[in-house]
Amino acid sequence: MTDHWIRANLHTHTTNSDGDSPPEDVVAWYRDAGYDALALTDHDWFTDPATLQAMAGPMLLIRGEELTSGNVHVNGLGISRTLPPAFEANVVETLQANVDRVRADGGVPSVNHPNFRWQVTPADLAALRDLRVFEIHNAGPEVSNLGGRPGHPSMEAVWDLLLTDGRPMVGIAVDDAHHFRRWGRRYANPGRAWMMLRVADLREADVLTALETGDCYATTGVTLEMLEARSGVMELTIAPQWELHYRTTFIGAGGQVLDVQEGLQGRYQLRPGESYVRARIEDSDGLTAWTQALRS
Ligand SMILES: [Zn+2]
Ligand SMILES: [Zn+2]
Repeated sequence: MTDHWIRANLHTHTTNSDGDSPPEDVVAWYRDAGYDALALTDHDWFTDPATLQAMAGPMLLIRGEELTSGNVHVNGLGISRTLPPAFEANVVETLQANVDRVRADGGVPSVNHPNFRWQVTPADLAALRDLRVFEIHNAGPEVSNLGGRPGHPSMEAVWDLLLTDGRPMVGIAVDDAHHFRRWGRRYANPGRAWMMLRVADLREADVLTALETGDCYATTGVTLEMLEARSGVMELTIAPQWELHYRTTFIGAGGQVLDVQEGLQGRYQLRPGESYVRARIEDSDGLTAWTQALRS
């Protein structure tokens, strides 16, 4: 099978933690919405997808849990069982212990919503080992993606700090869905933010490899028809919706804007001395996609 793009939500709750709907209802919602993959990530509970895969139909269920150490949360994707959350002396040690537990079980760790209750600083993230994935956009309320408190920049600014520091971080967008029965901006509803990943086969291992290697982009609704990033050149084509206008901003080290391009095509070639480029694509309705960084 040739490589193709799949749509996945990697952060979801059910009544096995603080979600408002049982796993069957949650799986049915994403299945009926046309998702290709879904991770059930209950707080401190492994919701075993084996018993749910039949009703998921063609949608792949990814094994997961949200290790919940107070307000410091780490998702484990592709794990095999419930992993107890760590409680260490400080935020860095707690995060690292959770990352290590996920790795020891063969999973992929992701640090969730760092600005939630202003718990995780850029310095905390920069101190971690064996971590590549973190949330740059969590669609739930109460997560302050845009930052603002002293010491807590926006998640995009944090991403640029880490990338500039030479850390190959993959930024992801997720629903963190909890509410399937009440709808509104104050609720964590499904369908608001997801990942597009390039895979050969719709298998958990392939999806997680595409995630960790950055063969993916994050989005709240902007879709790309084409995305290629290699040999120092990033090229993309946007799939247009209605008569919307699109703007692509290419961003480099230190969060510096390298170029802004209007329309359905974007292309940027790294120049000598530039360590990376990533793209943020915005439509005139306020929806956004974020590519991963192409490093020189
Ligand atoms: Zn959380
Ligand atoms: Zn969550």
